[in-house]
Amino acid sequence: MSLKLIDLKEVYKRKVPEPELEVLMNEWSKILRKGCIESKTDIAEYRFEELVAIAELGLTRVPVGSKGECVPLEKLGLYDDVKGDRYRVFNSTVELLTNNWPTPLVRLRSLSDGGYSVWAKLEWYNPYSFSVKDRIGWYMVKKALEKGKKSERVFEATSTNTGMALAAMAAVNGFSVKLFIPKSIQKASDILLKALGAEVIRTDKPLTVDSIEDVKKAASAEGAFHINQFENDANFMVHLRYTAKELDLQLRTANIDAKAIVGGLGTSGHLSAISFYFKNRYGNIKVFGVQPAPKEVIPGIRRIETGMKWVHMVQLDGVVDVTLKEAIEALLKVARKDGILPGLSSGAVTAAFLKLREEGVIEKGSYVLIYPDNGLKYVEQLSKYFGGEI
Ligand code: PLP
Repeated sequence: MSLKLIDLKEVYKRKVPEPELEVLMNEWSKILRKGCIESKTDIAEYRFEELVAIAELGLTRVPVGSKGECVPLEKLGLYDDVKGDRYRVFNSTVELLTNNWPTPLVRLRSLSDGGYSVWAKLEWYNPYSFSVKDRIGWYMVKKALEKGKKSERVFEATSTNTGMALAAMAAVNGFSVKLFIPKSIQKASDILLKALGAEVIRTDKPLTVDSIEDVKKAASAEGAFHINQFENDANFMVHLRYTAKELDLQLRTANIDAKAIVGGLGTSGHLSAISFYFKNRYGNIKVFGVQPAPKEVIPGIRRIETGMKWVHMVQLDGVVDVTLKEAIEALLKVARKDGILPGLSSGAVTAAFLKLREEGVIEKGSYVLIYPDNGLKYVEQLSKYFGGEI
């Protein structure tokens, strides 16, 4: 038995069109549950869907030769995507993004007491938007370019972070972006996006299925490409291949046996992929989602009923409602004991964790909170809070 390198271009030559996400999820589920891949006599014996799923999960090798031996995923390159350069020297800003993962996982003393140990994954350690959204900005554009998409103009609905990531990708790759941001989002976003070279349109509607349809129409009227983070499966896939695997490796290396992961829901991309990965691979871990309470605006996260794709394809153990005030109070609790300033959706995730703990839904043990960005974009909301306006 030997290990054979997979050439994704060769795999895709075998058959078109490429498999639907549901088909890939079925394959990934089998692979992750088993934790190993059984060797086959020849690479030609692997089914097309199976090979695409293996490659899109980031495995670089498959076992071939004698039949039947089950080779662990680690040996087939499962964690090879996590490149982290020790001396932090990078040839380009794109390398600074992709070769700098994993983003840090840090234990918070502000939340770790009474038998609880709480770890935050700090997604603001991404270089373009200082948020989790760099991952999807990069991967959606990379996948589009690989498929031969040649559009010079990209349109997108965003609450800022995806917009910044796409503006960065536009700068690096030489296209232009037009971004549609709800009026309810902080004004500072216009300046940040303009500085990155993007065109910004403010919309009356919040980010709902309806407003996304408007962007779709505008893009088709002006011959632009609507990259659509809300439906583009590269969103789910980048978090499965990188974010979830990274966290898995970090927890394993540090010997942290996490009882649950808590994260926000915007497009539902990152938390759905994390839930899918961990539940298939480890089974007993819980995953909780966080949404704004009715009528509340917390930039980056939305209520599930406003329309999300992937959250309906995976399992969550609960969804917690949080108000903006609760989110700010929770982020201040962290800021004033750990000295880092989490963003509003990170505050919402923290508030949700505290509620779950108070209500006795989660018992003592280790927990992971996904922090999408930090507080620097939200000075307006913090200032209103300090002025007693919230
Ligand atoms: N938090 C912030 C600050 C965000 O910008 C976003 C997405 O826009 C999210 C949370 C939600 O992430 P996702 O779209 O992966 O559900």
